[in-house]
Amino acid sequence: MVNINEVFVQKFTHFKGEKILFLDRDGTLNQDKGYVHKKTDLEILPGVIDFLVRATKLGFGMVLATNQGGAALGKYSIEESLEFNSAIASEFSQNNIILSAAYICFHHPLSSDPKKRDCSCRKPKPGMLTKALLDCRIGSDRALMIGDQETDAQAAASAAIKFQKVGSRELWVMAATQLEEF
Ligand SMILES: [Mg+2]
Ligand SMILES: [Zn+2]
Repeated sequence: MVNINEVFVQKFTHFKGEKILFLDRDGTLNQDKGYVHKKTDLEILPGVIDFLVRATKLGFGMVLATNQGGAALGKYSIEESLEFNSAIASEFSQNNIILSAAYICFHHPLSSDPKKRDCSCRKPKPGMLTKALLDCRIGSDRALMIGDQETDAQAAASAAIKFQKVGSRELWVMAATQLEEF
């Protein structure tokens, strides 16, 4: 079902927005418990909902950009991973935050299956971001990304997208400032 070497796109709803906010998943939106995939393990981190409500009011559409190499390592199934994303989208929608899609890399360089090793989407590569920009018809200058890892920053830089690291209270305040000034 996964097209080799390509980004997997899980659509939730039509993209709406004048600008796009790219969201890393694990460690940014939800507690990173290591190959997290069970819906019962979904724990949205403090500050995330308020931040995304604000982003919505400011006209940002939202897209997830997440490395889920655990699927290529046999840690969980693609279906489980998609269900976890759906649970996030559903929790967001209860707060009027619209997540339009999840762009997912299911590849991993250490996969036992050679066909799942190489790709152009696993962050720090920019494949997920560049595809989403095209799909949503948004220029990179109208995009902002948040994430907790250096690989998120590198992917954003490669796609010429502004990036803000998050994770601590101070960093979330900086991200909020970025939103307001964008
Ligand atoms: Mg992360
Ligand atoms: Zn990939």
